[in-house]
Parts: sequence; C-alpha cells; structure tokens
Amino acid sequence: MTGDGRRPDQGGARAPTGIFGGTFNPVHVAHLRAAEEVAEALGLERMVFVPASSPPHKSGEAADPIAPAELRRAWLEAATAGNPRFCVDPIELERGGTSFSVDTLGEIAARLAPARPVFVIGWDAFHEIDTWKDPATLFARADFAVMTRPPVSDASLRSFLPSCIRAEARVAPDGRSAGYGSAGGVIRLVPVTPLDVSASDVRRRLREGRSVRYLLPERVHDAIVGSGVYGPSPPRRGTGPAPDAPEDR
Ligand code: ATP
Repeated sequence: MTGDGRRPDQGGARAPTGIFGGTFNPVHVAHLRAAEEVAEALGLERMVFVPASSPPHKSGEAADPIAPAELRRAWLEAATAGNPRFCVDPIELERGGTSFSVDTLGEIAARLAPARPVFVIGWDAFHEIDTWKDPATLFARADFAVMTRPPVSDASLRSFLPSCIRAEARVAPDGRSAGYGSAGGVIRLVPVTPLDVSASDVRRRLREGRSVRYLLPERVHDAIVGSGVYGPSPPRRGTGPAPDAPEDR
C-alpha cells in the first residue's frame, strides 16, 4: 500500500507498472537492485512488490521454514520504503490460500486496464513457468520483463522460452525481445547487474549463525536476524511474531 492507503496501482498512473512477485523469504539486496534496474531500463512508473501468501512451488520445512507471510510483508515494506517508485501490494495475503500469479495478475490487470502490467520475473523462475497454473493466461494478462540472474548474464530469449508461448513468439534477431499474441504482448530480456544472492543462501547462513550483513537491506537486517525465524538467534522484542505460525506456510 502507499502511505495514503491507496492501492499502489490506482490514482492515475499512466507509465507502465511492474508487478514483481516472489516469496521474499526474506527480501534481499539483489531483489531491490534488480527491481531498480528493470524500472529504470523500462521506464516503469511503479514497481509493485507482491509477496506470496503460500507459494505453490515452495513448501518450507522445519529445517528451512518459510517465514510467516505478515512478517515477510513487513520486511518488504520496510526494505522498499524510501524508494518513491517501489510499493508493496498485499493482494495475495488478503486473498489467502495458495498464491497463484495468474489470479493475482487477473485482479491487477483489471484495475490497470486498458494498460497492460509488466510481470517482472527472474530468468530461473521464467524458465519454470510451464509448471505454473495456467501459464498461457499469464502471458495474455501481462507483458514480461525477464531479469538475468547468475549463472545467466546474457542469452537469447530463444534458448529459454517456455513451451506455452514458444510456437507463437516472434523473437527479435538480437534475442532480447519477443512479441506474441494478437494484443501486442512483449517479452523483454533485461540484463541486470549479476548479484549472486539468494534467499536460500541467506537462510543457510542464518541457520549456521553466520553474518548476512550487506546481503540484506540495511533497513531490515536487524529485524530479520533478530526475529530468529531462520536461525539460532533468539527472538528479540519488537521484531514480530515467533516463528511457530504454521498456518502461514
Ligand atoms: P530462494 O533462494 O528461496 O529460491 P530467491 O532468492 O530466488 O529465493 P524469490 O523471492 O523466490 O527469491 O524471488 C522472487 C523473484 O526475484 C524471482 O523472479 C527471482 O528469479 C528473482 N530474483 C531473486 N534473486 C535474484 C537475483 N539475485 N538476481 C535476479 N533476480 C532475482
């Protein structure tokens, strides 16, 4: 939400809006940097971070938990505060249950119409999109910005187009973009500064009691470490609920 309580995509935005979904378990510096670079490269007016309530592809387990959704949302809001282009939409938390991007995009696209949202996604997740719910409808509801992520720093879209879109995609000679569909859909490959940071590596370090300083945004480092959700550190006052909230996993 924005500070004045409006939905982030209401209120007259005209330039394209980026929709950046993820588990954000937890948010890390590469999420923020990649989002900033995509927003700059594509001239997005807003980048809306959408934390998943219960992600279908990540189950979490006692040894490697998914933090309670409200905690992941609070960290994301704190981490993105101060960037006027960034905001967080809790749409999937409010809907509850398993979070399917196709449902989220349906709601957001309806609000933004006639503008098409730009679905922002890392190369690794894009590569697996055929396994998501109703992937063809995802492509009907949004354009795509595919961010590079180590080990992929540059490649032709042709080499990793999902099969649900491969037949109709018209890949440009430089491999950086592809058009599809009758509504003028576009997939763009957006090379971003390669930062080999992942939430799973952050969680692993926390489990091992190691430092995660500079891998996490400074604004949320103490809250994430102090929560004790991922690691051996005991929960501290004021860092949110204890990690035993299985209904959110
Ligand atoms: P995990 O390690 O638990 O799988 P993650 O670091 O991939 O988590 P997610 O919340 O699953 O984080 O990612 C949300 C989105 O951000 C995905 O589209 C993912 O590809 C992208 N992303 C995450 N880390 C990077 C990175 N280092 N560079 C570019 N994109 C990234």
